[in-house]
Amino acid sequence: MGSEIGFRTLVLALEAVRWNPRGPALVLLAPEVEGRVRGGVATVAGAVQAAMAGATWLTPAFTFRTMVYPRVGPADNGVVYLAAQAGNARAVFFRPDLPADPEWGAFPEIVRRLPGAQRTEHPVLSFVVVGPQAEAAVATQSLLDPWGPMRWLEAEGGDVVLIGADPTRNVAIHYVEAMAGRKTFTRWALMDRRVVELPGFPGCRRGFGAAAPILEPATRRVHLDDWAIQGLPMERMVQILLAFLQRDPMALLCDDPLCLLCHAVRQHVLYGARP
Ligand SMILES: [Zn+2]
Repeated sequence: MGSEIGFRTLVLALEAVRWNPRGPALVLLAPEVEGRVRGGVATVAGAVQAAMAGATWLTPAFTFRTMVYPRVGPADNGVVYLAAQAGNARAVFFRPDLPADPEWGAFPEIVRRLPGAQRTEHPVLSFVVVGPQAEAAVATQSLLDPWGPMRWLEAEGGDVVLIGADPTRNVAIHYVEAMAGRKTFTRWALMDRRVVELPGFPGCRRGFGAAAPILEPATRRVHLDDWAIQGLPMERMVQILLAFLQRDPMALLCDDPLCLLCHAVRQHVLYGARP
């Protein structure tokens, strides 16, 4: 069954959901969309390029397979160290051309190969950036500051654009969590022939769906079949979610009783940092 959604429809929808059409944008694509557009992910990527022409835009190119775990490490860190050892043997070193994880579908790989695309250098949480301000955006991220590109997006009056993606894919919310003082984690990855420590690592996104109702006044949406393209102004999104997390420090956590990350955040809210 062929979809009626094609290039032109996508471009119009992407333009319609923008709050600041000339400003930068974080583009977050659910891989499920790839099969629901005529021409697949190549059409989506072409439409994003056309709709964002002249603006700078970025998308996650995360690579969790670079991660390794020590046998012992900090307490309350959302990980069972011994159980995590088994994955170490499969870990790979980060390099700028390491393909992004399949979690985000084929889109990040297409973007990474666009002429002029640049990639930030966090071994797990890298972004690929396209457009005139790519160099400036890339410079904002460091191992100590994984969400620098989100701060940059906010300062530049940018938008978050969700293509078939629900809030659990909105990685910009991790930036708000960090601003709100939510507990972060320490992780490790293979990079530059060594193991690098990654402070300020985010927790779990599975509870981010609770952000949808309160973000509704700041959401522009175009429905396409049974999915949608949505746009949010980053600055307003940050204000709304920061106030939300300040009112309820346990908001946006998931309800999986086995989630070590959300459990650690709850413990931290209740009891603070243990000595
Ligand atoms: Zn969780």
